[in-house]
Amino acid sequence: MPSKPKPKVAFYWCASCGGCEEAIIDLEFDLLKVVEAVEIVFWPCAMDFKTEAVRKMEDGEIAIAFINGAVRTSEQLEMCELLRRKAQIIIAFGACAQVGGIPGLANFWDKETIFRSSYLDKCPSTDNPGKVVPLPKSKVPEGELELPVFFNTVKTLDDVIDVDYYLPGCSPAPYLTLNAINTLLSGDLPPKGSVLAPNKALCETCTRNDSKPENLSLEKIYRVSQIEVDPEKCLLAQGIICMGPVTRSGCTPEGEGRCVLANMPCRGCYGPTPEVRDVGAKMIAALASLVGLEGEEEMTEEQVTKLMDSIVDPGGTFYRFTLAKSLLKRRRMPSEPQE
Ligand code: SF4
Ligand code: SF4
Repeated sequence: MPSKPKPKVAFYWCASCGGCEEAIIDLEFDLLKVVEAVEIVFWPCAMDFKTEAVRKMEDGEIAIAFINGAVRTSEQLEMCELLRRKAQIIIAFGACAQVGGIPGLANFWDKETIFRSSYLDKCPSTDNPGKVVPLPKSKVPEGELELPVFFNTVKTLDDVIDVDYYLPGCSPAPYLTLNAINTLLSGDLPPKGSVLAPNKALCETCTRNDSKPENLSLEKIYRVSQIEVDPEKCLLAQGIICMGPVTRSGCTPEGEGRCVLANMPCRGCYGPTPEVRDVGAKMIAALASLVGLEGEEEMTEEQVTKLMDSIVDPGGTFYRFTLAKSLLKRRRMPSEPQE
């Protein structure tokens, strides 16, 4: 008897560092079980499949497409639209696809500023005496060369296509990826739009939570390099900005927090908890409710300003992974063309 065809699975990356591709490899021996259960039909980072072969597939022929990375160029947009047509289920895989991630921080500038800084200004990693800037079309003796258009704004995956599920994290933990694949292949699908990770805040599952005082008051804010960090005590209680109160748990199976386990504060890569609409705004509000002097004495305006000024790079601290999905979405530049 001919064996039942395996469900087809695709992986694709947009604007990302490649960590989410690594996260698939991090399945280790479980990857062999996945390969046995599915037929991988597209994975440009790892295998030599052709886009043309995907174009020739029937609509809906792919069971699940995992797309990581934010959407920054016209080529990425085109591939996302193609995979949306060909796949029954689209998963926004990782922080960049879900909330913009680190590439989304580019929304603090516009395209011209980024190009100027990368290609024209004195940049330590650039030697460009000819002041060559990439253009969508350029003529060379052999003909016309075409590059994808670089958008002015970094977009999340659901800004450009309909997304069925989200797997958060920079990068998603292997156990969550495996759970997600098994759940989706079982046919017992969670409600559309679900984030396939625990619904709790990291603080709720963090082993240091018990050491957080009931009435925490922050007099000073430190970077980890400025103090000797107590490995047992809540980081926020030590004056270190830890995004645990507003970040989804799940980066470790037991919920301790991958970074917290390494004595580092959470930077928020698992994105917002279900109740949080804007990670940065919520964390700023949480901090504002904590600043104060011991003995419930209120700070003067000058003291509060000094405390807030001690936060290095507030944009990068509060919106490190989520700027592209925040209420701000991007900084408006006077010269900026509207998209
Ligand atoms: S603020 Fe950070 S260290 Fe403190 S309980 Fe929350 S996650 Fe743990
Ligand atoms: S502790 Fe925070 S920043 Fe670190 S992996 Fe977990 S969610 Fe991401």
